[in-house]
Amino acid sequence: MRETETTPRRSIAFIGSECYPFVKTGGLGDVMYALPKALAEQNCDVKVIVPLYRCIPQEYKEKMVYRGSFGMDLCSDGRSFHVGIMEYVWDGVVYDFIDNEEFFSAGNPYISLVDDIPKYCYFSKAALAALLYMDWIPDIIHCHDWQAGLVPIFLRTLFADTPLRDAKSVLTIHNLRFQGIYNIPTIKYWTNLPDEVFSIDVLKTGVEDANMLKGGLAYADVITTVSETYAEEIKTPFYGDGLDAHLRHHAYKLRGIVNGIDVVQWDPETDNRLAENYDEKTVLKNKKANKKALQEELGLEVDDGKFVIGLISRLTNQKGLDLVNMILPGLIDGNTQVALLGTGDGYYEDSFRGFENEFKGSVCSCIMYDEGRAHRIYAGSDALLVPSLFEPCGLTQLIAMRYGTVPIVRETGGLKDTVEPYNEFENTGNGFTFDGYDAGLLYDAINRAKTVYFTDRERWDDMVKRDLAKDVSWEASAEKYKNLYLELKPEY
Ligand code: ADP
Repeated sequence: MRETETTPRRSIAFIGSECYPFVKTGGLGDVMYALPKALAEQNCDVKVIVPLYRCIPQEYKEKMVYRGSFGMDLCSDGRSFHVGIMEYVWDGVVYDFIDNEEFFSAGNPYISLVDDIPKYCYFSKAALAALLYMDWIPDIIHCHDWQAGLVPIFLRTLFADTPLRDAKSVLTIHNLRFQGIYNIPTIKYWTNLPDEVFSIDVLKTGVEDANMLKGGLAYADVITTVSETYAEEIKTPFYGDGLDAHLRHHAYKLRGIVNGIDVVQWDPETDNRLAENYDEKTVLKNKKANKKALQEELGLEVDDGKFVIGLISRLTNQKGLDLVNMILPGLIDGNTQVALLGTGDGYYEDSFRGFENEFKGSVCSCIMYDEGRAHRIYAGSDALLVPSLFEPCGLTQLIAMRYGTVPIVRETGGLKDTVEPYNEFENTGNGFTFDGYDAGLLYDAINRAKTVYFTDRERWDDMVKRDLAKDVSWEASAEKYKNLYLELKPEY
């Protein structure tokens, strides 16, 4: 038995807008799945509350059981709404899906702010109401990002006289760029929250807007974000997205806990999407087979001697793609291939399509979301590029290391905390890094990687093995969350 299993039991309700494998658009979905699972292994009772979007695959819907339904007051004119609860228990975690046709019947979780603001006002209140309905009063209510930003406010206002009053709230920032800002009258209408929370130190921002994340940060008992470096960065104007002063004000309750990945979901030894599985002993040989299969799948020239760089990303300016655009033609030197997988801004989608046309056989741009292909790129590439402008934690570099693929990253946020730079004197480190947001520095980092790859393969292979052996699991971080919960509710 691990020591953590002997620590007191705690109950936690996770509230957030996505959760793998039901619905995922990015890292939040991964965390909502992997962290509760890791906490369950550390003597925690965890319920995950997410919306029942129509896009959730039927295979999961079929396994859900009806847990009940009720009507809930929501709007300032007294309009009330249906709340259904569908439940699914899996791997020690209870998933409760909030069902409402009116809000969750679109194909995707996120549509536009006009639709999303009422949807997540409803969801934040419905999640708390569902806990009361189920008579499940957790020690901790752990909310995620702006979509659940109103939860700590509802908890201390409209739910202040309910049994939930004793629960402590934690709000985790996965990405400060998204804050849920809309005009005050609309949010007042959709929440019926009291006037005092629309003050400048809680929800109000600018002249007439309300910011759902900002309000949640003010009311949460603790704020966490997904790496220590990002927790420092967001207190500065460059990374603070307009909330740096607010975060400095609340710095006493802000801390960073780095994400891990689910090492069962991401395991090169058992991953059935790969051409060949591998472990520490077979990685060098079997990665070659995966590289070959990837080159065939993507229409790249099949040649084990090429340096294959993977890039798996939402295509937005956060991800450093402007730098990639600037240097990509210079990278393609006959020895280098690029495999991109991503969707997002049309501007980047077009530029990468253009590169594929220009460098057929050396560049493949898969403009799509494809979980299986992502696994094969992680396994078949030699290096993975993550040159982000900012990166709260970043999961792709962790997955890459788990698959023995060397990350090339900018030193920001979680990238800085998780990738130790290669040290040629001591033959240590996990990847190649650069600091300033500058195309020349990125180019230099990739060339440093290529130099080791082409001129000192033994050193390169050592790094591949080190990466594969690195602990990127949730275990250590889940323990930090557990300790935080114990700190917040120490009394028994
Ligand atoms: P973010 O949450 O900012 O998008 P992260 O690095 O935290 O970035 O998480 C990205 C997650 O989404 C990873 O699991 C990555 O493999 C996955 N991902 C991103 N784009 C795609 C895509 N086009 N197809 C499949 N998986 C993707």
